[in-house]
Amino acid sequence: MDLFEYQARDMFEAHGVPVLAGVVADTVDDVRAAAETVGSRSGGVVVVKAQVKTGGRGKAGGVKVARSLDEAAAAGQSILGMDIKGHTVHRVMVAEGAKIAEEYYFSVLLDRANRSYLAMCSKEGGMEIEQLAVERPDALARIPVDPNVGIDDGKAREIVDAAGFDEADKDAIAEVLKRLWDVYREEDATLVEVNPLVKTEGGEIIALDGKVSLDENAGFRHPGHAALEDTAAADPLEAAAKEKGLNYVKLDGDVGVIGNGAGLVMSTLDVVAYAGEQVAADQGLSTPPKPANFLDIGGGASAEVMADGLHIILGDTQVKSVFVNVFGGITSCDAVANGIVGALDALGDEATKPLVVRLDGNNVEEGRRILAERAHPLVTIEETMDGAARKAAELAASTKN
Ligand code: GDP
Ligand code: MN
Repeated sequence: MDLFEYQARDMFEAHGVPVLAGVVADTVDDVRAAAETVGSRSGGVVVVKAQVKTGGRGKAGGVKVARSLDEAAAAGQSILGMDIKGHTVHRVMVAEGAKIAEEYYFSVLLDRANRSYLAMCSKEGGMEIEQLAVERPDALARIPVDPNVGIDDGKAREIVDAAGFDEADKDAIAEVLKRLWDVYREEDATLVEVNPLVKTEGGEIIALDGKVSLDENAGFRHPGHAALEDTAAADPLEAAAKEKGLNYVKLDGDVGVIGNGAGLVMSTLDVVAYAGEQVAADQGLSTPPKPANFLDIGGGASAEVMADGLHIILGDTQVKSVFVNVFGGITSCDAVANGIVGALDALGDEATKPLVVRLDGNNVEEGRRILAERAHPLVTIEETMDGAARKAAELAASTKN
């Protein structure tokens, strides 16, 4: 989960990283009021900053320095509603203006390839950092960070030395890097990036912008993180699935997919996409049927979980057919079949779209017998995964045209 800048700012502050005052606003009137409060601490100078989860706001005109309340309101007027790389600005942060002497860059992130963490630091931060990284890679120090040690005094020293800061600034910068490490480790982040980290004319080191990504798999350790989620932006079906504890990802197609086990569901998506292409070629369709979602109902596959899963998928108005692909392992096929039957009974009239079921594995004969005996008018039983994918794609195609 990526945070908004203002959320990162608050998190930095909680861990003792020096930041400037900032207040969020979502109307021009609120921008003016915020500028009055915040600006009183910085001689009336504030910075109005778009809150969108994408970089390059400055270049897009989403960061504006204002020297009066009128200028702040005008900045709010122009930034609110602006589109930055496909993100509409619904909210700005009105921050205390800083007198910047120098702009630096610092980040620490998960380095998957090297099974380690990586710190990156440059004396030349600011809006051209991507260009710097490509054109003059030597100006961006890259220092591996041992996850078991982190950024301690020694590592912080190594980073500021490698970045080539002036001797007089090194201690103060190293101190801030250690605090940023605290954010990274204590909040279970996968990225903490500060660009720019500035030295003010007064010689203070301040994190002026912040980008934080949190590891959602560690969410159970951080009850407070749930509140940081941008629920307004979340897909309603994904939000409903999350509430039910389902592993669901909405995709753009029309064949709903349910399976047990992430690997099986992933391969089901491939098989459905492939079958969809073939059906489209055979029938001369311009838009082939495609998978509508990823949904892994896990090992249990009880009637209740199956009903929850079907409920979510049938709630997707794009869905035309559903492919239930289950491999009976610890949970045998008869239990799964009972789950499907129970789910369809529980859903009643809500179950309106054709279901193609492919069962295999432990006690498959009994599972198929249970489904055949129930003979639900919406259910088709297929023996193979390819056959079932083909059937589900055909059903989706036939309702589409
Ligand atoms: P980004 O473009 O999305 O990374 O947005 P930033 O928050 O990094 O801001 C972009 C640039 O605006 C910075 O690199 C600074 O040069 C400038 N800026 C941001 N805050 C201030 C401030 O308080 N005072 C001044 N003078 N410039 C600022
Ligand atoms: Mn920035």
